Amino acid sequence: GFFACVSFVSWYKQHLGRGTRTHIFSGHLLVQGGGENDQDDEFNNNSGGRKEIQVVLKILDQSDKDIDLGFLETASLMSQVSHNHLVFVHGVSVKGSENIMVEEFVEFGPLDVFLRKEKGSVNSQWKFIVAKQLASALNYLETKRLVHGNVCAKNILVARRGLESGTSPFVKLSDPGVSLSVLSREERLERIPWIAPECVDTGSHAANAADQWSFGVTLLEICYDGDLPMSGGTLSEKERFYQQKGRLAEPLSPELAKFFSMCLTYEPLERPSFRTVLRELTGLIIINPNISPSEALPDTDP
Ligand code: ATP
Ligand code: MG
Repeated sequence: GFFACVSFVSWYKQHLGRGTRTHIFSGHLLVQGGGENDQDDEFNNNSGGRKEIQVVLKILDQSDKDIDLGFLETASLMSQVSHNHLVFVHGVSVKGSENIMVEEFVEFGPLDVFLRKEKGSVNSQWKFIVAKQLASALNYLETKRLVHGNVCAKNILVARRGLESGTSPFVKLSDPGVSLSVLSREERLERIPWIAPECVDTGSHAANAADQWSFGVTLLEICYDGDLPMSGGTLSEKERFYQQKGRLAEPLSPELAKFFSMCLTYEPLERPSFRTVLRELTGLIIINPNISPSEALPDTDP
């Protein structure tokens, strides 16, 4: 059972950072061998068929019932899914007053930080592979009519770097955290430009179209090596940007500009499904192998 499997003995090791109303630590989880997470093979073998795996503990700040429910809603969403490019959630612990989500530790951390650090070494092909992996996870959610609601490069985790020749990157979309509908308006404004415009006033009833917008923005963020224009603006600048139906700076090629304008339309119904996104991405790779605005020359790799 999902909730039952977390009979863990874990110790807090390292504080990894703060999220939206959470503190994140890395720790260890002791699981019975042959458990639900055989995909992980970087564990130490212990006696009695038990193994120890590295995990991330997301500890929800103490607040109120609504926030608790918004966190548990996400845990429940993640318990319904299983996909190569979605982070594996081991379970939640709701013992006492602390709500803790336990998920797979992904070695190379969040994509935004990774891209800023590896600016020079990441080429367009790498970016396309990552984009397709993200789109495949979102296509999977879409076919299950599940909405993620918090797609951004920070919430994409790098499992394999794919920088050495002959290797390719492997990423996993993380859980969306406390659901949008229970966050404050201010917290939603902060998420401009990733948050879909129709979700700013109320995060409830978010549809798959909301993820389609966020996917477009995240792809731009990837094109710009983790530095998205507008992301550092003040709340009122951000709010004004959406009120004026602002457009984010777009890369120069006409095919790419068309692709971005499809995802980044203020009319949710006009955005393409992830099925279409996947098909279009494949086409784009062929016509337009160069997606980094900073790359003046096409890749010269054979
Ligand atoms: P939000 O809901 O806003 O995404 P969050 O609680 O998910 O909030 P993040 O800001 O996404 O928190 O994550 C905080 C930091 O924790 C990340 O920058 C990253 O360094 C680390 N982190 C989160 N999840 C993982 C993971 N599965 N593996 C490794 N590191 C992680
Ligand atoms: Mg997160």
